[in-house]
Amino acid sequence: IIQVKDLSKSFGSNVVLSDINMEIGRNEVVVVIGPSGSGKSTFLRCLNLLETPQAGDITIEGRSLMDKGTKIEEVRAEVGMVFQQFNLFPHLKVIDNIMLSPMKVKKWTAEAARKKAMELLGKVGLADKANAYPTSLSGGQAQRVAIARALAMEPKIMLFDEPTSALDPEMIGEVLGVMKDLAREGMTMVVVTHEMGFAREVGNRIVFMEQGRILEISPPSELFDQPKHERTKAFLSKVL
Ligand code: ATP
Ligand code: MG
Repeated sequence: IIQVKDLSKSFGSNVVLSDINMEIGRNEVVVVIGPSGSGKSTFLRCLNLLETPQAGDITIEGRSLMDKGTKIEEVRAEVGMVFQQFNLFPHLKVIDNIMLSPMKVKKWTAEAARKKAMELLGKVGLADKANAYPTSLSGGQAQRVAIARALAMEPKIMLFDEPTSALDPEMIGEVLGVMKDLAREGMTMVVVTHEMGFAREVGNRIVFMEQGRILEISPPSELFDQPKHERTKAFLSKVL
């Protein structure tokens, strides 16, 4: 569903991604790990055109993101993203946060958007918070609303950039639980996380990045138990 070919990205003279090659299959969960500054977020942001690569190509469902005819809004509608900071609109109720994009971008009626939003709130276990304001939510609840909001666009792919890193430990599980459910339902997901338990349990493949390159892509059992690279070993010894 995603093909990344010779992707490179620099900020000025700082080469952040060099020659990234990867294919991600439908229904696959790919977990990206690696040290701080290795380019994980930048890679994810390239996949929904929050960043523009300098070289290489990304194809999603056969459509090149570099193609001049490809509309950014259409890519974003198909590729949902959840960030470390939830970025909910504080002045909008939970339900309105979720209804906003489907109505604006997909021109859904309020009725259809509300129905979808309530269904998604049920799915993330927050049906009772529809009329609450984001400031009254815990971090874990806010992040689950952010996931519901991304899902409201009915994306084919979901990107997660350290979705639990800003959360208190007791709230991490509830967010990972929602992500596990999504994976089980067959959502194609690319997840940057430091939650190695999640990576091992839910990931189909683990990508280890360092200094803008992919050093290793392997199934979790292989990457965690028999890493091919010394650098992967060194990194894992610090985080496991
Ligand atoms: P972390 O684990 O800390 O989130 P990361 O692996 O996600 O790190 P990136 O955020 O992708 O790493 O950053 C990779 C490099 O790109 C860093 O050197 C960073 O300073 C640089 N960088 C990222 N975004 C920008 C930007 N908008 N402008 C300039 N440099 C940037
Ligand atoms: Mg990052």
